[in-house]
Amino acid sequence: MSDPTPNRNPEIKYKQLFINNEWVDAQSGRTFPTLNPCTGEVICEIQEADKADVDVAVAAARSAFKIGSAWRTMDASKRAALITKFADLLERDKEYIASLETLDNGKPFLDSVDDIGATIDCFRYFAGWCDKITGQTIPVDGSYFTFTRREPVGVCGQIIPWNYPLAMVSWKWAPALACGCTIVLKPAEQTPITALYAGALIKEAGFPPGVVNIVPGFGPTAGAAIAEHMDVDKVAFTGSTEVGHLIMQAAGRSNLKRVSLELGGKSPLIILADADVEDAAMWAHAAIMTNHGQNCCAGSRTFVQEGIYDKFVEVSKTLAENRMVGDPYDVMTQQGPQVDEAQFKKILDMIKSGKDEGAKLQYGGERWGDKGYFIKPTVFSDVTDNMRIAREEIFGPVQSIIKFRDVEEVLERANATKYGLAAGVITNDINKALMLSQKLQAGSVWVNCYDIVTSQTPFGGYKMSGQGRELGEEALKQYTETKTVTIKIPQKNS
Ligand code: ADP
Repeated sequence: MSDPTPNRNPEIKYKQLFINNEWVDAQSGRTFPTLNPCTGEVICEIQEADKADVDVAVAAARSAFKIGSAWRTMDASKRAALITKFADLLERDKEYIASLETLDNGKPFLDSVDDIGATIDCFRYFAGWCDKITGQTIPVDGSYFTFTRREPVGVCGQIIPWNYPLAMVSWKWAPALACGCTIVLKPAEQTPITALYAGALIKEAGFPPGVVNIVPGFGPTAGAAIAEHMDVDKVAFTGSTEVGHLIMQAAGRSNLKRVSLELGGKSPLIILADADVEDAAMWAHAAIMTNHGQNCCAGSRTFVQEGIYDKFVEVSKTLAENRMVGDPYDVMTQQGPQVDEAQFKKILDMIKSGKDEGAKLQYGGERWGDKGYFIKPTVFSDVTDNMRIAREEIFGPVQSIIKFRDVEEVLERANATKYGLAAGVITNDINKALMLSQKLQAGSVWVNCYDIVTSQTPFGGYKMSGQGRELGEEALKQYTETKTVTIKIPQKNS
């Protein structure tokens, strides 16, 4: 296959709300701009959904979910065929969609291509589940026949962030559709374009109207309207821990809708002195720099054992110096701009706090270029656990390298955080790898690798990194209710 070719000026075809398989304007008539993070310039205006639009979208999703509807009566195998068709359409338009993703988000084009590939995989994986979501027969006491059914939970509100705009769509839609739910999705206000295009492909694939609805808009308005809605059965949210609190509160205040949350992290990557320094530094660099550090499971606390610390810092510095920052449409580029001005400023503020608190800046620490939201890959050494850069999520290309002495000590320090999304260990000592992977409090632990996330593997957080798991078979639990059916068995044959 030939190399994928970027298109720097992809046509933006869909800028409205997608409700009931139709494109409609927001009732308020308001629009909001989506910006190119390379320049800060407006790409286009998008219709801005608000509570009134969310009400219409929820009504459409409810109607599509009604007993007897085309969607509810559809054979599970037909649902699988529709999801597979949708994946095929994504594949057909992969280069175009990757070009849109890079334009709106700023990530390097080849990273966008990879993200779309993962998105397609995710839909294909969950398509396979549709006709395999089974219950149990249970040997109960007494003369009864008892079985369970896994039924779709209903209308699902889904609120997603901007760091993996289309991949986050797949993590939300694929299991929900496989289970037979209907959807109201709010993409992030920074990156609505690819989700809207996916809406067009939902229609083209032949999903019945109302099964998928998309309401671009802002968090405190459209997002909050979903979380508060009395007729939404479940809300799935990916984003900050702060907003995660609000989502749970809204569910509690309204109809006790089911809630799943995938939130922030401050994930430790522990490198033991027996590791190969070059290889370990390469993993640690990728763990934090991938996607410009805009990654909830980024390895943002690099713990390095004292015997190899100085050499590790040297190699890490060289890796940062050599990282290619620049035009995300250039296929050589590894790092584009941060997504927007707010993130850009927040990261620079965190970098300043690192300098002020006494961390040693090895490389970077400032903007790259003179326009857009680029930040140089940044490496701090001599970081201590009390510094803000070691405690707070930065969500940027900032590596904090922390020294430790022994395994017991690092385990305690690694776990001393309110977060628990991911962790990593790099060592050639199998016993230490086993011990640490068992005792680290995190939803994913990677040994001698990092950030290996696949459609088949559950992903989610301990502690304040979230509730529930996405991906893998576990994700089906988020989108089904279990019904127990008990039938009396007559004892006489009359
Ligand atoms: P970030 O700080 O990374 O942008 P957020 O948690 O603010 O992360 O945003 C993630 C998603 O949550 C976005 O779609 C955003 O619009 C939405 N959001 C923000 N605030 C709220 C809110 N109060 N209620 C519901 N959704 C919200």
